[in-house]
Amino acid sequence: MIATKGYAAMNAGEQLTEWNFERRAVGPNDVQFDIQYCGVCHSDLHQIRNDWFPGIFPMVPGHEIVGRVIAVGENVSKFKLGDLVGTGCMVDSCGDCSSCKHGEEQYCENGSVSTYNGLNKYTDGMPTYGGYSKTIVVKEDFVLNVPENLPLSGVAPLLCAGITTYSPLRHWKVGKGHKLAVLGLGGLGHMAVKFGVAFGAEVTVLSTSENKREDAMKLGAHQFVVTKDEAQFNAVKDSFDFILDTVSAPHDIAAYMGLLKTNGVHICVGVPSEPSVIPAFALIGNRKSLAGSMIGGIEETQEMLDFCGENNIVSEVEVIDMAYIDKAYERMEKNDVKYRFVIDMATL
Ligand code: NAP
Ligand code: ZN
Repeated sequence: MIATKGYAAMNAGEQLTEWNFERRAVGPNDVQFDIQYCGVCHSDLHQIRNDWFPGIFPMVPGHEIVGRVIAVGENVSKFKLGDLVGTGCMVDSCGDCSSCKHGEEQYCENGSVSTYNGLNKYTDGMPTYGGYSKTIVVKEDFVLNVPENLPLSGVAPLLCAGITTYSPLRHWKVGKGHKLAVLGLGGLGHMAVKFGVAFGAEVTVLSTSENKREDAMKLGAHQFVVTKDEAQFNAVKDSFDFILDTVSAPHDIAAYMGLLKTNGVHICVGVPSEPSVIPAFALIGNRKSLAGSMIGGIEETQEMLDFCGENNIVSEVEVIDMAYIDKAYERMEKNDVKYRFVIDMATL
C-alpha cells in the first residue's frame, strides 16, 4: 500500500479536513502519478452533500486531476516516468459490454467506477478516493496523455468540464449554421462556449448573472441574455437549435425549451438535486427533444485533450490553496466562480 494524504469530508455535509489514507500498491497495469493540480467541480459539492445518493465517507473528492508519472507497472506500455498525464471522472469499467467496446466506458452496462465515491468493483472492492490528494494510482486504460504546451492549471478542468461539454456538442454535430445556447456560465458553461465557438456555432449565453456579460463576450460568445429579464428572455423565443443546460440547481426546463426552434434539442448535462417536471406540451408543439449526456469515453477524452492542445484551449481558472476549499464551495453556491477553481496541490 502507498501512504498518502488528502482533503476529505469525513461525513456527509461536513467541511473538508486533512486526512491520511492509503492507495493500492502499483499493480502490473497501473500508473502512479503525483498530482499537481485538481479542479473543483460542482459535482464534488453535490456528492459531499449526498445531493444525488448516499455517498461513501470519508470522501476525498476531485476528478479533474493532472500531474506527472512517478511509477508504472510491468505491463504498462503507454506511459513512462515523467510523462504529463491526467485522469477524469472514471477509473475503471467492465471492458466487455457493448458500450465499453465502443469506447463509451461512461455508459458501461455493468457500471463504470467513479474516480471517488465509488467502489473498485472489478478489482479489490475498495472505495475510490479522488484528486484532492498528493498522489494517485490508476489503471493505465483510464490515464490520459496531457499536451505539454498548455498551462497545466487550465488543463485540469478539461478532464471533466471539458469533456462533459465537448462530447454532446460532437455527438449532436453542433457547428457552423447552428445557433447554440449555453445555459449557465460556470465551469461547464464557459467550456461549452469555447468549444461551441471553436466548432463554428453561433453561441448565446443564457445567464442569471448580469455581471458575467463582459466575460461571456471575451470567451467568444456572440450574444448574452439575462434570463431574469423578461424582455431579454422573450426576445430569444423560438431561436435556438440546441440548448446545452449546465445548471446545477433546480430550474424550469420547460420554460427554457420555449427558446428552441422546431426540432430543437435541450441537452441536460447539469444534475440538480431535484427532478424537473416536463409537460408534454413543452415537447410536442414543435417536435422538440429533451436529451442528456454524461462526461465522455476515454478515447473521446484524449481526442478533446489533443484538440485543446492544437487549438490552445484551456479553462479560465482561479488557482487556490487546498485550505481555501470550503470558501470555494461557498462561492460556488453563489455562482461566484470565474470560471473554475483549481487547487494547487503543492499547498497540501
Ligand atoms: P458551476 O460552476 O457552479 O456552474 C453552474 C452555473 O449554473 C452557475 O454558474 C450559474 O450560471 C448557473 N445556475 C446556478 N443556479 C441556477 C439557477 N437556479 N437557475 C439558473 N441557472 C443557475 O457548476 P459546474 O461545475 O459547471 O457544474 C454544473 C452542473 O453539471 C452540476 O450539477 C454538476 O454536477 C453537473 N455535471 C454533470 C456532468 C455530466 O457528466 N453530465 C459532469 C460534470 C458536472 P449563471 O451565473 O450564468 O446563471
Ligand atoms: Zn465534474
